[in-house]
Amino acid sequence: MSNLLKQNSFYRFSFGNKKYVFFSGSQRILEISSPLMDAYFTLCTGNETSDTMSGSEIAQITASLNVLCTPPERPSTEPRQDMLTLNVTHGCNMACKYCFASTTQDRKEVMPMSVAQKAIENMLEANPASNQYTIYFFGGEPLLHKSFLHEVVAMAKEEIVGKRGKKVAFLVNTNMICKQ
Ligand code: SF4
Repeated sequence: MSNLLKQNSFYRFSFGNKKYVFFSGSQRILEISSPLMDAYFTLCTGNETSDTMSGSEIAQITASLNVLCTPPERPSTEPRQDMLTLNVTHGCNMACKYCFASTTQDRKEVMPMSVAQKAIENMLEANPASNQYTIYFFGGEPLLHKSFLHEVVAMAKEEIVGKRGKKVAFLVNTNMICKQ
């Protein structure tokens, strides 16, 4: 069906008992929170017939999701710093041979909160005009330090949403098998 999202524009996955979809264009993740959305993505992958949804429902959902499949437009002349990558830790619960991450001495080490705070302040000072900021948790395995992530999320929301009325999105680079 031509009015469905292209199969290669998203990737569905589960975490815990929830289902999500990752959009490669915008690098965003959306929770699939209703049976209708679940049926829609199943339809997009060609595993179901269109009898399960009406044409207008399909068109409406596709229209609302199209924006997530497209990289955000950036003015080419004006460099912006509205995305921040925090290297939370060099530690990881895995030991992939090709990777710099450590399963031993670095595993408990985590970025000091003061560094995260300063980095967020720098991003906001460098680009005060942006309406949306993104904070990307990188590692190692960032989910080894969930309390750090929670603290940064709360601080960023206070600074960006609470004080400035802007939006903030969070991304996590994870191996998805961290149980801590
Ligand atoms: S950070 Fe990723 S690639 Fe590196 S050891 Fe952990 S799981 Fe493997």
